[in-house]
Amino acid sequence: MNKIPYKIYLEENEMPQQWYNLRADMKNKPAPLLNPGTLEPMTAEELSGVFCEELVKQELDDTTAYFDIPQEIRDFYKMYRPSPVVRAYCLEEKLKTPAKIYYKFEGNNTSGSHKLNSAIAQAYYAKKQGLKGVTTETGAGQWGTALSMACSYLDLDCKVYMVKVSYEQKPFRREVMRTYGASVTPSPSMDTNVGRKILEAHPGTTGSLGCAISEAVEVATTTEGYRYVLGSVLNQVLLHQSVIGLEAKAALDKYGVKPDIIIGCAGGGSNLGGLIAPFMGEKLRGEADYRIIAVEPASCPSFTRGKYAYDFCDTGMVCPLAKMYTLGSNFIPAPNHAGGLRYHGMSSTLSQLYDDGLMEARSVAQTDVFKAAEEFARVEGILPAPESSHAIKAAIDEAIKCRETGEEKTILFGLTGTGYFDLVAYEKFHDGLMEDYVPTDAELEESFKTLPKVD
Ligand SMILES: *Cc1c(COP(=O)(O)O)cnc(C)c1O
Repeated sequence: MNKIPYKIYLEENEMPQQWYNLRADMKNKPAPLLNPGTLEPMTAEELSGVFCEELVKQELDDTTAYFDIPQEIRDFYKMYRPSPVVRAYCLEEKLKTPAKIYYKFEGNNTSGSHKLNSAIAQAYYAKKQGLKGVTTETGAGQWGTALSMACSYLDLDCKVYMVKVSYEQKPFRREVMRTYGASVTPSPSMDTNVGRKILEAHPGTTGSLGCAISEAVEVATTTEGYRYVLGSVLNQVLLHQSVIGLEAKAALDKYGVKPDIIIGCAGGGSNLGGLIAPFMGEKLRGEADYRIIAVEPASCPSFTRGKYAYDFCDTGMVCPLAKMYTLGSNFIPAPNHAGGLRYHGMSSTLSQLYDDGLMEARSVAQTDVFKAAEEFARVEGILPAPESSHAIKAAIDEAIKCRETGEEKTILFGLTGTGYFDLVAYEKFHDGLMEDYVPTDAELEESFKTLPKVD
């Protein structure tokens, strides 16, 4: 067979026409969202006050395996997809590993991340419903940027609540969002009831995704013609992100390549859930086996040190309860530099798969992540996002293990985005000022006390 090219692309006509819903093949379905008042499963009607109708359908459907991708969304995808699968020949050589390393690169659009895959879908359904606009939160800024791009494309208003620490660390992100016409407010803000309450309880807080979600939901539910959209965690987002895995698998299949190990960083779980979707589908159906590894920051270790329990998705406790690996909705992680991974919870789909032993998880320290990021940038030519670099770190570690054992494993990891807006973090790392904050057991125990009682 021919040598595998550095970049494997699909032709436009080979791009996926449907999203794949992993839940359809799960024997143990993810636990349903609960109404925090009644503790009954949320109905479509209740959810449609917050979310767009079509997205509510996708959220609640755990039996339909494939959803058609509307033509308009497929046309938008064509502007920046298919994204390449890259064979990391240079990294392999540098590591002197017999492992074969591939990565799926999702940073090739202005948002600099995979988030645009779901942003365009969510904005499309909002537009189709005749809404005026959407509200959301953003941590690192990638989701807010992606949604701003999608909304300006479809002529929808976009209100973004941006976690204050990111708003201050990444002023350029804010300007990209404003370029696309979004309004951007640092969270917690004095604009909402929940923001004022959080500021009273935690004066001077640098915010968290959980706070910003509460603010965005409050604005959506109190403003006519608006709904709330979320960039991760939810089933619908994993569904849209399945385009990553479907493309990756189709590209690798063209060359008869089957990964042994699939690695992704995990914030709320959307890129990992999307990347692994078709592979995990095969695993669930007993057709193939893969080792799947979620990588999270040691400062926000939902999988590796969290509890599998029902919890609020937000700090203000206005959202439904989700059963997930969680650090407690009150947990405000140290202001580390992987903003997109600073969420207290995790996708309920991935949580169930992890609980069923179908995937592994590990946590990594921030300075080790930046070491790996730099090593990667120097040989592969892409400046990776700090979030993505968690996956790089684990991929390098696995490749080094192969060097020691002589095993020729094939590794696929998700390179979710670029780090051009994260140069303050790179600066801290280079100046030796970066810290490896790890929460103590006592801190986590304190946070677990706020978990709601659900039997
Ligand atoms: C948001 C983000 C993540 C983490 O989010 P998931 O929903 O866990 O995928 C990872 N990488 C980048 C570049 C991001 O923007």
